[in-house]
Amino acid sequence: MSFEPIRPALWLACRSCGNEVPEDSLGIRCPSCRGLLDAVHRRPDLPGPLLRNLFQTRCDIQSGEEPSGVWRYRELILPTCPEEAILSFPEGNTPLARREALTDWVGVERLGCKVEGMNPTGSFKDRGMTVAVTQARRVGATALACASTGNTSASMAAYAALAGFPALVLIPAGQVAMGKLAQTLAYGARVLSVRSDFDTCLTLLDEAVDQLGVYMVNSLNPYRIEGQKSVVFELLQQLGWHPPDWIVLPAGNLGNLTAVAKGLLEALGAGMIDRLPRIAAVQAEGAAPFAAGFHEGFTRRHHVKADTIATAIRIGNPASWDRAVDAIHATEGLVLTVSDEQILEAKAQVDRTGIGCEPASAAAIAGARALATAGVIEPGHEVVALLTGHLLKDPGIILDRYDANDLPAGWYPIREVDPTLDAVGAAWEP
Ligand SMILES: *Cc1c(COP(=O)(O)O)cnc(C)c1O
Ligand SMILES: [Zn+2]
Repeated sequence: MSFEPIRPALWLACRSCGNEVPEDSLGIRCPSCRGLLDAVHRRPDLPGPLLRNLFQTRCDIQSGEEPSGVWRYRELILPTCPEEAILSFPEGNTPLARREALTDWVGVERLGCKVEGMNPTGSFKDRGMTVAVTQARRVGATALACASTGNTSASMAAYAALAGFPALVLIPAGQVAMGKLAQTLAYGARVLSVRSDFDTCLTLLDEAVDQLGVYMVNSLNPYRIEGQKSVVFELLQQLGWHPPDWIVLPAGNLGNLTAVAKGLLEALGAGMIDRLPRIAAVQAEGAAPFAAGFHEGFTRRHHVKADTIATAIRIGNPASWDRAVDAIHATEGLVLTVSDEQILEAKAQVDRTGIGCEPASAAAIAGARALATAGVIEPGHEVVALLTGHLLKDPGIILDRYDANDLPAGWYPIREVDPTLDAVGAAWEP
């Protein structure tokens, strides 16, 4: 007779060399080959229906960690973490909004928008950050760092403030939207504006972590992925655990795509759902190395010099490439591109519903529309689009359109008037 050795609830595995590392390792890369580490969970003790009940019960509890839309699912995220060690705002609990006008515009019958802009710092990054920063404190880190197009740094800076950690940010000079930079500064991070692009900032920081003695919280860090999975559990719960046919999301560094697929596979493995949605990952035309790879069957890795108005996905050399290839294969996923014009058009539609989002998020809506038009998404399919970041992240893009007098349908020009009743009356024509 042979027995399986008893496994801990969670460990890290290198996807390049297969090396296994304890979950409380201070380094975020494989110590033998510097490959990326993935968190691996032992099968949860509870069967799927009981897990679903447990998560449902917690939705009514307002104390402790239950109000967090990340930590409510902690058995599937960081089961080894004692509750008193958790650093949480709380985060998550974002609406799955439905708007008839937007559903019609996309060309489907059922569209839910997961409004991730309603996270504490205005983007989905908070879901991964609460877990990465909690883990940073557990493993004895003393300072945090990230390279960022803006949202990661805003989120890291906020959680660093919560934890009392100093925080270092590398941003590409002149390429970060105003809302994100303002947040990062206000929450008290130290910002280095690097005269280069995001990809260079990430490589530079990745090489500098040991010298600087900082804990890196980019999505290379496996705990970011673990936290970001929670968006899947939350949206499935909002749908009564009936999976949608499609999840459509914007793709830049490919951490979110990795996390969404991992969450789906683990929900399936735990018996919480009985089938997988397909994932559609949407890139901006000017920053689409992963789409180029997809069209060649992922035979080689691509890098490009990235250029798009959607700064959150302005990434030319995505760090989670290999993980994301697996994510596409496992979910029968696909990758497509949309132009900046399509992104702006979709953003105007999302904004006019009153939901609002930043440009990168609108790429998901533009992509869903393109897939519905092409008949890939069928009219009867249920679609969930991840609206990753808040409208206020990038006010510049809106004000620039006003200044350029490039108003989409449904916007009104600002009219300057004299301070008289006549002038105000004459200007009001509903
Ligand atoms: C980070 C981010 C993305 C891209 O996610 P990746 O994990 O880099 O692919 C998309 N939209 C917004 C608003 C983001 O902040
Ligand atoms: Zn390795």
